[in-house]
Formats: sequence, C-alpha cells, structure tokens
Amino acid sequence: MPGNPRVLVAGGGIGGLTAALALLRKGCDVEVYEQAPELKEVGAGLQLAANGTRALYALGIGEELKALSCEAESKEIRIWNSGERWKLHDLGKVSVERYGYPYLTVYRPDLLGLLERAVRREKPDAIRLGARCVAFHQTETQVTLSLEGEASVSGDALVGADGVHSRIRQGLFGPDKPEFTGVVAWRGIVPMNALPPHMVRMVGTNWVGPGGHVVHYPLRGGEVMNFVGALERSDWQVESWSARGTTEELAADFKGWHDDIQALIRNIPVPYKWALMTRPPMSRWTVGRVTLLGDACHSMVPFLAQGAVMAIEDGFILARALSASQDLPAGLLKYEEARRDRARKAVEGSAANIGRFHHPALADPAQARDYVAREWAGQNVAERYEWLFRYDVTTVPIG
Ligand SMILES: Cc1cc2nc3c(=O)[nH]c(=O)nc-3n(C[C@H](O)[C@H](O)[C@H](O)COP(=O)(O)OP(=O)(O)OC[C@H]3O[C@@H](n4cnc5c(N)ncnc54)[C@H](O)[C@@H]3O)c2cc1C
Repeated sequence: MPGNPRVLVAGGGIGGLTAALALLRKGCDVEVYEQAPELKEVGAGLQLAANGTRALYALGIGEELKALSCEAESKEIRIWNSGERWKLHDLGKVSVERYGYPYLTVYRPDLLGLLERAVRREKPDAIRLGARCVAFHQTETQVTLSLEGEASVSGDALVGADGVHSRIRQGLFGPDKPEFTGVVAWRGIVPMNALPPHMVRMVGTNWVGPGGHVVHYPLRGGEVMNFVGALERSDWQVESWSARGTTEELAADFKGWHDDIQALIRNIPVPYKWALMTRPPMSRWTVGRVTLLGDACHSMVPFLAQGAVMAIEDGFILARALSASQDLPAGLLKYEEARRDRARKAVEGSAANIGRFHHPALADPAQARDYVAREWAGQNVAERYEWLFRYDVTTVPIG
C-alpha cells in the first residue's frame, strides 16, 4: 500500500467501526463520520457466529467481547404452540472445537462501545460525531465528502458504511427499490428475573410457526433475554430501528402461541417494530475511490443472524485488500470481488429462511413434527450454516 492513505468512513455502526479498526491496524489514516451525536446503538441483541468472532479475535478484541457477551450452550427449535423442542446446533465448546471461535450473543451497545474504544486506542480523534454525510465528489486522485452544515473533508478513498438507507449508495447508484417482504419484526429486551425459572437458560431458541417465528437468547451474562418476533402482515411498512409498537398489538400478533412466548411478550417494557424489506443484490459496490460496506450494499432480513457479521467480515477484508494493493481503486475492487458472492448468498439464504421458519405445515400438529424433523435437522441444517461459520477472514484469498 503506497504511503498511509487517508480513508474516510461514512457511518460509525458496527460495520464502519470494524472497518476503521482494521484499516488503522494496517497503517491507514482513518476518519469516521457518524451522524448521531453519540455512539449509541439501539437496545437490542446480536448473535455473532464463529465467522464474526474470528474476525474480532483477529483484531485483538475477542476476549474483551467474550467478557461482555453470553456464550450460549446450544440453539434449539421449538414448535409455536406445543413447545416441543429439537436441538438445532451445539454451540458453546462445540463452536470452539469445530470452528476455533465461540458463538456469542451480545448487547449491541456493548459491542459498539468495545469497537469505539479499540478505534480510539489506535487514533483518539478518529471518530467525528454529529457529522452527517450528505454528498461526495471524486476526481482521479481524491474524494471530497460534504458534511451537513460543515466544511467538507478530503481523502484518498471513501467507504459508505451508512446502513440500509445509505446516502453514499444513492450518490453512486441512485435511489434503490426496496420490496416489502410482508413480514414485520418485533423486538424487545426482557429482564431475565421477570421470566419463569424454566426459561432462564443459556440457550438460543427459534420458535417456528405458520406465518411467523420467534427467536430469543440471553444477553449480558444472562441479565436479560433478547426477543425478536417476526410475523407476516401487510399493514406496517416502516423500516426503522426506533418505531415503537404496543404490548397489546404484539400480544395480538402472537395470540395462540405457547405460554413461554406470552411470558416474554408480557415482560417487554417497550416493543419496537421494523418492516422487513429486501433489495435485489447489487452487481457493483465500487466506483473509483468510493465503495460500500455492510447494510449499505447487502442488507438482508435477519433470518440467518448474519447481517452484522457480514459487515464485520467486509471491514476486515477491505483492510486486507487495501494493504495488499499498490493502487487504491484497484484495492477497492479486489475487496468487492472477494465479498460480493458471499454477501449475495447470505442475502438469498436469509430470505429463503422466511418460508422455512413460517411453513404452513406447522399449522397442522400431525405434519409439524415431521416437517421440523426433516427441515431442521442433520445435513439440511449443516448445509445452510457450515459455509457461513467456516469462512476465515484472515486467510480467504483476495484478488
Ligand atoms: C431485528 C433484527 C435482528 C438482527 N439480528 C442480527 C443478528 O443476530 N446477527 C447479525 O449479524 N445481524 C443481525 N441483524 C442485522 C444487523 O443489525 C445489520 O446487518 C447491521 O446493523 C449492519 O451494520 P452496518 O454498520 O452496515 O449498518 P448500521 O448498523 O445501520 O450502521 C450505519 C451507521 O451509519 C450512520 N449513518 C447513516 N446515515 C449516515 C449519514 N448520512 N452520515 C453519517 N452517518 C450515517 C447511522 O447512524 C449508523 O450509526 C439484525 C437486524 C434486525 C433488523
């Protein structure tokens, strides 16, 4: 990599901060521009499979992350009304034995805080808060980023890590055309001590039902339980982390579901709802000195629990690609080439899980058991997840 290129990163979410940390470690001069006045992720959980934790360990923050997280022993599948359960994956020690790294569940603000501290250790003033990126302009030799109400800044490259509604993506490729999936995702955080004792377990659970599913897992050493409930309905189409719903509406959506689900719903202090959209995979992410990363170029429905993990992988590979290239635009293209097919496969795999989680056979008790035993066990499950968990950001070939 010639000199110490100055890389501007639009967006200080999980993807932007991971990229910043990885780029700083490779000797780039990085500045992150985040629109929010403080780095405060939404109060929700994230599952980080071994392919994500491998990257965070390689960046030197794995042990600190583990101390803030829960290491679930396993993940199970349950039927929406009977509560009958099957094991989906062994996690805990098995994840470490099989993939070398743990499967962790973490409270988003904890992960963001960890990334922020690590970036600031490398460069104390790398993150500019309250800085909204509104436009950019590039020439053959540099890129200029315009910030709302402030003087513009220049660098050698610009990375749009500004999430699903990315301004940088719009600047490169124009407005996108999201398609509503017909599924609304509810989320909330439940104090563990409000739940019946049999639910207090270090296990992740996926409840599957006709037209909906629920995922819950422990966070913060088991202090709280993260809840995500997805339901097919067409009357809510706002794609937002901050749109609130009511307990009554959430309970009505999951009427008839098992008592354990009702116990979770009753104890969510504030339920939020998010309309799940899909966007067709993009054939390009990079133009000249500007590229995209994370949800800005491959947002996905959260049904493989891999959106943030893909953003983490992107950041790591971007830094590897730039450090291995003599020419910056060529390095950005190498990054894109290394990532595009994998991200597309994750987008498609997540969308395919809608039908699998919400299968009509689950409505009929006689068919439901056979369906789960067939679709959610053995080789079928391995094929859907192994290619994700085994990916090694540190060794995968680039360019
Ligand atoms: C209900 C739900 C559950 C999920 N569960 C999981 C899971 O278990 N595991 C997993 O891996 N993924 C999960 N995901 C997906 C994950 O949340 C996203 O893929 C991830 O947050 C993407 O990170 P990002 O950094 O690309 O974008 P974001 O997290 O959206 O960050 C973008 C950042 O850019 C900033 N920004 C935006 N516009 C501008 C601008 N113009 N100027 C400056 N800053 C700007 C924003 O303020 C934000 O800080 C889930 C998603 C949902 C909806």
